[in-house]
Amino acid sequence: MGVLEKEPHPMSAYMILDQLRDSGFRAPLQVYRALEKLIGMGRAHRLESLNAFIACSHMSCEKGGATAFVICDRCENVQEVCDESVSLFLAGLSQKAKFRASKSSIELHGVCDACEDAYICEDA
Ligand SMILES: [Zn+2]
Ligand SMILES: [Zn+2]
Repeated sequence: MGVLEKEPHPMSAYMILDQLRDSGFRAPLQVYRALEKLIGMGRAHRLESLNAFIACSHMSCEKGGATAFVICDRCENVQEVCDESVSLFLAGLSQKAKFRASKSSIELHGVCDACEDAYICEDA
């Protein structure tokens, strides 16, 4: 699944399948299985709001900490933000609700710095 790791943008399962046809992948289910394995190992993440996948950009995710993603709606650039405080915050929330969370996802949509700058330039 090196395809995903080389791609800085999120990819849907079908995009990945297209790239892997030559490597013997035929069905989306095969791709989903491989992705599940990668996600389980902490080497990839699912972006729920985009229904897409992205390679993990941190080594620390293997430990299962919470990660937040900032997603630019203009250039589709995705940044993974790992911060211990995110895990602590979520643990606190779960505790408050007397709930045991098994997974969580935080996705922030908006505009990245580069796009924001480009917009200002166009305006001037
Ligand atoms: Zn990660
Ligand atoms: Zn952007």
